Amino acid sequence: MSVQALQRIVDRSKRIVFFGGAGVSTASGIPDFRSENGLYRRDFSGDGAFAGLTPEMILSQSFFYLNPEKFFDFYRRYLLHPEAVPNAAHRKLFALERADKLRGIVTQNIDGLHKSAGNRRVYELHGSVHENYCLDCGAFYPMEAILRSQGVPRCGRCGRGGAPGGVIKPWVVLYGEAPDKYTCMGACREISNCDALIVAGTSLSVEPAASFLGYFHGRDLVVINDEATPADARATLVLRGNVAEILNEIEVR
Ligand code: NAD
Ligand code: ZN
Repeated sequence: MSVQALQRIVDRSKRIVFFGGAGVSTASGIPDFRSENGLYRRDFSGDGAFAGLTPEMILSQSFFYLNPEKFFDFYRRYLLHPEAVPNAAHRKLFALERADKLRGIVTQNIDGLHKSAGNRRVYELHGSVHENYCLDCGAFYPMEAILRSQGVPRCGRCGRGGAPGGVIKPWVVLYGEAPDKYTCMGACREISNCDALIVAGTSLSVEPAASFLGYFHGRDLVVINDEATPADARATLVLRGNVAEILNEIEVR
């Protein structure tokens, strides 16, 4: 199976939807979770702060409320990548949207790189590190506010009489939290209306995101990933390789 086969699918499709995961951003220097170099394979036992803990434990709703200091320490160190910029995959998807070929992007990524690349119809199923809200008054804060703060970030708008303001929480879906209903509905609507669905850089092991592929009833299901995925069996085309390199070869016409 070749990139030419993907080119043919792109050429004949009018409504493409891209469904992506962490593998789309590894070429931007952001590690994924589950592959060989992923965050979940790292050994935190030698790291005093996080010894005995796994990323799944730390990135959970209960851990956030019970140990916010430790949560933010981990979050700043391993989830925020202020230096990351869109790579060839993000750029090609923007070109496809501009050419009116791509209907939307459904992403599990929280890095905001599709929006940085210019795409407008992006469904961020797991939220974004660029959106942060005070739990008490709802005030919005950009990622820089979290980076600049120390310990648990506090709202500067709602503290009264010397008391600290509310805790600022990233709009990132933690384990134990449900993704936003309207984002999910929009994503499922796009998937059910497209003629080609390109699934890339995802192990498809996080629910409910992975089950959204069940809404696809179009002609071509393409999987681009450097290892096998549960969607391969029903795909029209499986490309085993680097998603940034493969998308870079596609011509928009
Ligand atoms: P995952 O880590 O479970 O799977 C990533 C998959 O992509 C793996 O199968 C890996 O082999 C493959 N891959 C990695 N680099 C690739 C490349 N360059 N080309 C082709 N394939 C590549 O990630 P997931 O399925 O997205 O699920 C993990 C969860 O982690 C998501 O909920 C997401 O929110 C979060 N996450 C996000 C980021 C980010 O925002 N960039 C990074 C890490 C994890
Ligand atoms: Zn506040």
